[in-house]
Amino acid sequence: MPSYDVVERDWDIKVNANECNMNMPPLVAERVMSRLSCVAFNRYPNEEYDLLREQIARNFKLQKENILIGSGSSEIIEKLFYCFGGSPAHKIVYPQPSFSMYTIYAKAAEATGVPVDLSPVDYSLDIEKFVRTVNDEKASLAVICNPNNPTGNGYTLDQIEYIAKNISCPFLVDEAYIEFYGQTATGLLKKYPHLIIARTFSKAYGLASCRVGYMLASREIVAMIDKSYMPYHMNVLSLVTADICYQMRQEFIPHIQIMISERKRMQEELKKLPGVTVYPSETNFILVHYAEAQKLNELFESKGIGVRHFGDAPGLKDCLRISMGRREENDTWYNYFKAFTEGRA
Ligand SMILES: *Cc1c(COP(=O)(O)O)cnc(C)c1O
Repeated sequence: MPSYDVVERDWDIKVNANECNMNMPPLVAERVMSRLSCVAFNRYPNEEYDLLREQIARNFKLQKENILIGSGSSEIIEKLFYCFGGSPAHKIVYPQPSFSMYTIYAKAAEATGVPVDLSPVDYSLDIEKFVRTVNDEKASLAVICNPNNPTGNGYTLDQIEYIAKNISCPFLVDEAYIEFYGQTATGLLKKYPHLIIARTFSKAYGLASCRVGYMLASREIVAMIDKSYMPYHMNVLSLVTADICYQMRQEFIPHIQIMISERKRMQEELKKLPGVTVYPSETNFILVHYAEAQKLNELFESKGIGVRHFGDAPGLKDCLRISMGRREENDTWYNYFKAFTEGRA
């Protein structure tokens, strides 16, 4: 397998990984620091794991047995692929283009990844075709990212429910960007026991450094996936930090609103540029198509600006994905973009 290319440079403007561009709100940081100062560093994490599970469960009116916490939702997604994959006879169906790791996890799990192409025009998903593929392939896992990374568009709750209703294998909805969109499928969990939802603290809550994600599912699925984890798999520093961020999640709403309003502002600005297709987004990033994406990306790189270029990934030729930075940062990359389209750069 080729290595996953995270060739990171020390970018002046880093808008390539959909991170939150602001550090924790000061009020939250203060509480986190004081909580960290009383950690029992000599003990394995015992209660902290369950405290966070209980807190998340309460918010969704579920039980702690419905919650599993992992090192980022990536780890949880990987575990799901390993547990439901594990053999080339086991098919895992997901749209394409979507999160590139789905293909990699399917391969690593020795399962057969079955991508369902999104529309080349607007990246919409043919729901009937998706359902048909899952059923025809007798898939062991179906995956949808909502809203979708890297295209940015969201599927409606009706579409998600239609899929849930018409397939019977485990159905993962990856809600990494749901805080920017709001249309969560968590309300469907009780009705559809094969539904699994993955969430992360890395994006809207700006906790990418801590690696914390969680999964909501039936207690049977949680118990099954939990068997693949070693004891004490989460470290206490990440657990208590996430616990406090979750308690204080209201404090993050202004950050989320700023990211959304910057996205709307930049979508409007980008639409003014000739030759640039701006795709709708319900997230904190924007996908654009531009015939000279590769050259533009080289310009960005030479200016210390890191955006995501997809090379020849299926369905993403000449596309760039740009995460929302702070206002000044967005103005900076935009000015280079504009100058490039005008032949001034
Ligand atoms: C960022 C992201 C994740 C997970 O991130 P973690 O940091 O591992 O929690 C999962 N799915 C998608 C689609 C993402 O973009």
